[in-house]
Amino acid sequence: MEDYDLVIIGAGPTGLFATFLAGLRDINSITLEALDYVGGQIPELYPEKPVYDVQGIPKINAIKLRDQMYEQARTFNNKIELNSKVTDIVKEDDIFKIEVNGVQKYTSKAVLLCTGIGDFTPRKIGCEGEDKFLNKGLTYTVKDTSKFKDLTVAVVGGGDSALDYATELANTAKHVYIIHHSENFKAAEKTIDLARKNEKITFLVNSSVVSIDGGSKLESIKIKNEVTNDISELGLDALVVAIGHVGKANIYKSLPLQLSPNKRGVMVNSKLETNIPGVYAAGDVASVEGEPANPLIAIGGAQAYQAINYIKKYINPQAAFFGGHSSNLKI
Ligand SMILES: Cc1cc2nc3c(=O)[nH]c(=O)nc-3n(C[C@H](O)[C@H](O)[C@H](O)COP(=O)(O)OP(=O)(O)OC[C@H]3O[C@@H](n4cnc5c(N)ncnc54)[C@H](O)[C@@H]3O)c2cc1C
Repeated sequence: MEDYDLVIIGAGPTGLFATFLAGLRDINSITLEALDYVGGQIPELYPEKPVYDVQGIPKINAIKLRDQMYEQARTFNNKIELNSKVTDIVKEDDIFKIEVNGVQKYTSKAVLLCTGIGDFTPRKIGCEGEDKFLNKGLTYTVKDTSKFKDLTVAVVGGGDSALDYATELANTAKHVYIIHHSENFKAAEKTIDLARKNEKITFLVNSSVVSIDGGSKLESIKIKNEVTNDISELGLDALVVAIGHVGKANIYKSLPLQLSPNKRGVMVNSKLETNIPGVYAAGDVASVEGEPANPLIAIGGAQAYQAINYIKKYINPQAAFFGGHSSNLKI
């Protein structure tokens, strides 16, 4: 087994920044990422979108931001391992044994969970034909809108992702339908407004998909009107299901972490400590006692900074909490 002072789990925005900070504080760390690429939600859910709210960067394409985060994470050459899903963590005599893809591979004095919304298992509609037409017209994410050029597409969902996808797809698709089971959308007002004003988008509210049909690829869907119970058929080339992800925070059977009430996050105090000494959490996975969820890149970054400083002191109680300003470095 390889020994480290710190194992960081997840190489999304929070884990990448934590990797940089571990290097900055001279902590011998390894970052383990389940996927074969870094960036978490950015490459998985919104690679083509512009991001406006990262301090000091007025506007940046999301994937470019991810690339810059990765470059920063590599500053001190702290290790980042891809295709490394942490499947269990065993604590023995204040040392953590980290199991990756079913095999115990690393030991560590501390653990920082940066696992965000988990391993991106999409929530399914659960209707007939859903599994059959996966990747044959049905998808759960939109990574490249050009693939939908001149197609008739429906997006299922009522949140930011669904409405954003619809607006983006309308740039290239022939027509876009938004299918939502209610009249109320859980998205930013501006996002709803943009979609509503788009002439290429038709809203089908109070509507649920009850089956997906076709031959070798998806050709149509059946929709139930939740008010009248009427069933209608809609001819389509593609269906995007964007109804969220199944949160799986408690994936470490040997580590009894205290989860948030909705079981999607891990409870932390103001020092980003979980209920298990030596285990910290930052970013979207961290549920701070008494505070509402605030899933933002900048918040995860600030939490990573706090967590790394507390971890430094946990590993070496003689160390200072504050490690100085990076502008004083010669690197
Ligand atoms: C459509 C959309 C638009 C957004 N726009 C913005 C925006 O404009 N500005 C903004 O600030 N925020 C935005 N966000 C939110 C932002 O992307 C998140 O707050 C951010 O990604 C959280 O980073 P994270 O590293 O904590 O988690 P994530 O990005 O979820 O990354 C977690 C990583 O951990 C990995 N992982 C999970 N479990 C394991 C495991 N067991 N072993 C190994 N690896 C594991 C995952 O594969 C993933 O790579 C947006 C989100 C979405 C969905």
